[in-house]
Amino acid sequence: MPLSAEQINEELSVLLPEPDADTHSTVLGAGSDDLEAGRIYLETLVAGGWMVPEWPSEHGGRDASPAEAALITEALGRYQTADLYPYGVGLNLVGPVLLARGTTAQQHRWLRPIADGSEVWCQMFSEPDAGSDLANAGMRAERDGDEWVLNGSKVWTSRGTYSTWGMCVARTDTALPKHRGLTMFAVDMSSPGIEVRPLEQMNGDQHFTEVFVSDVRVSDENRLGELGDGWGITVETLAHERATIGGRAFGGGDDSDVGLPSWLEAWRGSGHLVDPVARQEAMRAYVLHRVNQLTTMRASHLARGGAPGPEGSGSKLRSVGAFKARAYLGKNLAGAAGMLVGSPGHLGFMTAPSMSIRGGTDEVQRNIVGERVLGLPREPSVDRDLPYSDLKRSR
Ligand SMILES: Cc1cc2nc3c(=O)[nH]c(=O)nc-3n(C[C@H](O)[C@H](O)[C@H](O)COP(=O)(O)OP(=O)(O)OC[C@H]3O[C@@H](n4cnc5c(N)ncnc54)[C@H](O)[C@@H]3O)c2cc1C
Repeated sequence: MPLSAEQINEELSVLLPEPDADTHSTVLGAGSDDLEAGRIYLETLVAGGWMVPEWPSEHGGRDASPAEAALITEALGRYQTADLYPYGVGLNLVGPVLLARGTTAQQHRWLRPIADGSEVWCQMFSEPDAGSDLANAGMRAERDGDEWVLNGSKVWTSRGTYSTWGMCVARTDTALPKHRGLTMFAVDMSSPGIEVRPLEQMNGDQHFTEVFVSDVRVSDENRLGELGDGWGITVETLAHERATIGGRAFGGGDDSDVGLPSWLEAWRGSGHLVDPVARQEAMRAYVLHRVNQLTTMRASHLARGGAPGPEGSGSKLRSVGAFKARAYLGKNLAGAAGMLVGSPGHLGFMTAPSMSIRGGTDEVQRNIVGERVLGLPREPSVDRDLPYSDLKRSR
């Protein structure tokens, strides 16, 4: 019997404190990387399956229907939350992929530690020669009995400094065209041969990394999906990522049109909106915010609780546009005081450019919307059907 909104609220009120106005959930990674607070939060919620309500109860969920899960997610937003950024890849990308594609043993091994925060995952997709053109990934995986031996390097790996597992796409067959010779693996980040080098971002984040992989042995039991399914799983994972970036954490998906968002209220409270030009700009940012909310609701309705599709690219574009408009205007409104590091909104301002890149660039999202939503002709591709080993590469 599904719980009503009142019952959900009652149960959560026993577990979680009331929200503190200064603390917000973030998936930016711009902030604390406070693993401990997130772990305690997830550990508190896992017994009732509240964090991942649609997952099976044996794996840390509560077998909720999409409608009940939406009520729970909405209710959670009313309580104090931790920064769940460190846990985002596990909860939002790997978890759904394991539920759809994992073996029973893999689901038992990995889902619960994702749900209770005891294991953190990172996404090892991008390489120096494979970003937007991810199908060009060159990390090699060669079979050796019941194991695979991985060699190569990944870059822009967020959370690399503290992850337990990496979801890693590697090339298992160079004779096939680039999209077909890839396979997905779960790599134990403590394996001999893994070297993680931090790359500091301009917003101060320290968890961003380059990962060098030398003769790293991965059991075939840790292969995710079938041999050669790596591209399909990559696309599925990226769709989950875009839906997450386009989702509630960035102000999308909330159909509430009552009252002003807190950032607009803060600008008004600081007297910034007395100026008519500032007011006009603020309304522009607010309209983008509302359009983002509505686009995200539409995209999640289209997905109807199933795997997200290309419509997630539209909501990612909207959220990034709304986020950047807010961050840049906030900086302008702050005037000279905004030049100080640590001034209100500074972290968002320094993070904003990366929003158009992570999870696939704005240009790539527009290509996806054009080709897969609007049905426009595909971008020309000269190497789609050639064996990977015959492709021209920069090195
Ligand atoms: C903050 C942050 C976190 C990230 N975290 C991760 C992570 O955890 N794991 C991971 O694997 N990766 C991660 N990435 C990498 C990210 O996915 C890539 O940076 C992104 O896909 C772009 O790839 P690239 O940097 O190689 O740029 P390129 O692909 O070289 O693109 C350069 C420019 O060319 C444009 N371009 C390329 N192809 C086309 C095309 N076909 N049509 C039009 N324009 C095009 C791009 O839009 C861009 O402007 C992260 C990136 C950032 C900034």
